[in-house]
Amino acid sequence: MRRHLIVAGAGWLLTVSCTHGNAASSGAALSPVPTSASTPEATGRGGAAATVDVRATSAAIEILKDGGNAVDAAVAAAAVLGATDLYSCGIGGGGFMVIYRAEDQRVITVEHREMAPRASSRGLFYAGDTPIPMFEVMTSGVSAGVPGMVQGWEVALSRYGTRGLAEVLQPAIRVAERGFEVDQTFFEQTSRNVERFKLFSSSAQLFLPDGGKPAPVGAIFRNPGLAKTYRRVAEGGSRAFYRGEIARAIVDTVAHPPMASDAGLAVRPGVMTLSDLSDYEARIREPVKSTYRGYTVYGMGAPSSGGIALELALNILEGYEPTALGRVDFLHRYLEASRLAFADRTAYVADPEYVDVPVVGLLSKDYAAERRKALQPAKAASGEVPAGNPFAFQVDPSVTRSAAMLSSEPALAALAPSPLDVPNRETTHVTTTDKLGNIVTYTCSIEAEGGSGIVVPGYGFLLNNELTDFDVPPEPGAAHANTPEPGKRPRSSMAPTLVFKDGAPVLALGSPGGSTIITTVLQTLINHLDFGMPMLEAVAAPRVSQRNVPDGKSQAEPEFIASPEAAALQARGHVFTNVGQIGALTGIRFHSDGTVTAIAEPQRRGGGSAMVVEPVPRTGN
Ligand code: GLU
Repeated sequence: MRRHLIVAGAGWLLTVSCTHGNAASSGAALSPVPTSASTPEATGRGGAAATVDVRATSAAIEILKDGGNAVDAAVAAAAVLGATDLYSCGIGGGGFMVIYRAEDQRVITVEHREMAPRASSRGLFYAGDTPIPMFEVMTSGVSAGVPGMVQGWEVALSRYGTRGLAEVLQPAIRVAERGFEVDQTFFEQTSRNVERFKLFSSSAQLFLPDGGKPAPVGAIFRNPGLAKTYRRVAEGGSRAFYRGEIARAIVDTVAHPPMASDAGLAVRPGVMTLSDLSDYEARIREPVKSTYRGYTVYGMGAPSSGGIALELALNILEGYEPTALGRVDFLHRYLEASRLAFADRTAYVADPEYVDVPVVGLLSKDYAAERRKALQPAKAASGEVPAGNPFAFQVDPSVTRSAAMLSSEPALAALAPSPLDVPNRETTHVTTTDKLGNIVTYTCSIEAEGGSGIVVPGYGFLLNNELTDFDVPPEPGAAHANTPEPGKRPRSSMAPTLVFKDGAPVLALGSPGGSTIITTVLQTLINHLDFGMPMLEAVAAPRVSQRNVPDGKSQAEPEFIASPEAAALQARGHVFTNVGQIGALTGIRFHSDGTVTAIAEPQRRGGGSAMVVEPVPRTGN
């Protein structure tokens, strides 16, 4: 992510001694953490990592070199990102980790999504009968969910890792304490949030040190509060976060957002309690699994819609032959398949502990065939398309479905909730593998860029505003799959994905970008698997995203809109909105000779960092 960095030798992670106590508050005396040069592609053996930030990737690689496994490396990288990419992710948020364990060839997911406080209700985003405006919800205690990150890390490490939090947090402690050089991306992220950060004394103090202005490019950004928090967690485990002083600080911050003296307005408090924190649990869940043209695809299940929507879209696309159709006609089907998949995802996918998500039906090949009937081969749908009826496919595939079954109205699709529309510049994705062949594909987030905008005073991390991923019902009490309820987790779009062929890993990947995450992963898979683009090219290619929004338009990058394909698609009725950049994918491609290629986004968000433990010349795709 951050270019223009000081180039230094590898090995900083294990050679810099661990500092404690006063060092945190005297951070100015320490020199910033040096980094190696950032490259978006690296091929080799013995393990690999890719993230948006060179320091995070370096931390993962050093853990791998020191004998740690892919899970240890992923947590180490995510913790560093919590310091360097703290507007996108961190311990005030949550995530979804998909793990492939080579030893028993199992895919497991560690879901550590934020949870609505138990005092929440379906009227969470209403003041009386009036919906609270989005900007007020975004920057408030109301939208802060109970953070899942630290629990997720601890569960992943204790069950599937080889190191404890005390070890894997050390690189992050050093980065937070010693600081790093502010680059253009970080400067822009801060600048976009000045008005929000100014409202809170804690946020202004950390992010606007220069009389209310962001630290300029080249300044050193240190976060001793975060170093202190990480150190407490390293020493005391998740208990130190979910109980005691940090928990009290979180609850107090949600209940009494620390307004700056000149804020001139109050923001809405939330309803999180100490027992919401102490009772929080990460969940080990089954992945969702499907096949695509001989590949096996594993993804994240509910409460993320990522895996389900991706696999449903792939199932629809499997009915078309990309080479015979050619790029434009296949791209048309990609957009329409995505539109149909999003209609279903929005209607049916939510927290599975609150809603019966019809996963079997949604991912049945027969259902995909049924949905394909709604796809017009030469014409874009003009507006929003309705959800299908996957419940009719929840049954044994040998059952013959009557017309009545197919046409019966699924109860949940009847309501049309309005999703909260937050811009998509946030979240981050980490991909790692180790010498034993374990793999981690891990997306984590605090939701909006800068989350709720509120730093927990003295602890150096931002509270998420992930509860904005709930749908707002048309009236306060109305039921829908994804409305807020006590203890419920909001639907996500995060889509950490694994692809196998004949039992061997082929790809691990994921991206930030709100609901465009799903289309970014989908488009990259198509580029690589169907059109044979090398992975780096597949990742760099201009993006277009169709998510069944009411006006029927697709969001696209300017380079896509300027392409001949876009002109041909416009002739088929597609309309594109220029949204600048979409996503920032990272991934790992596994080759048949045992080497791997780590890939990070080459340009978007300033470009990411891919590294391997033992570099070798690249031979495969
Ligand atoms: N909150 C989003 C989700 O869970 C991710 C945030 C983003 O990438 O914009 O899907």
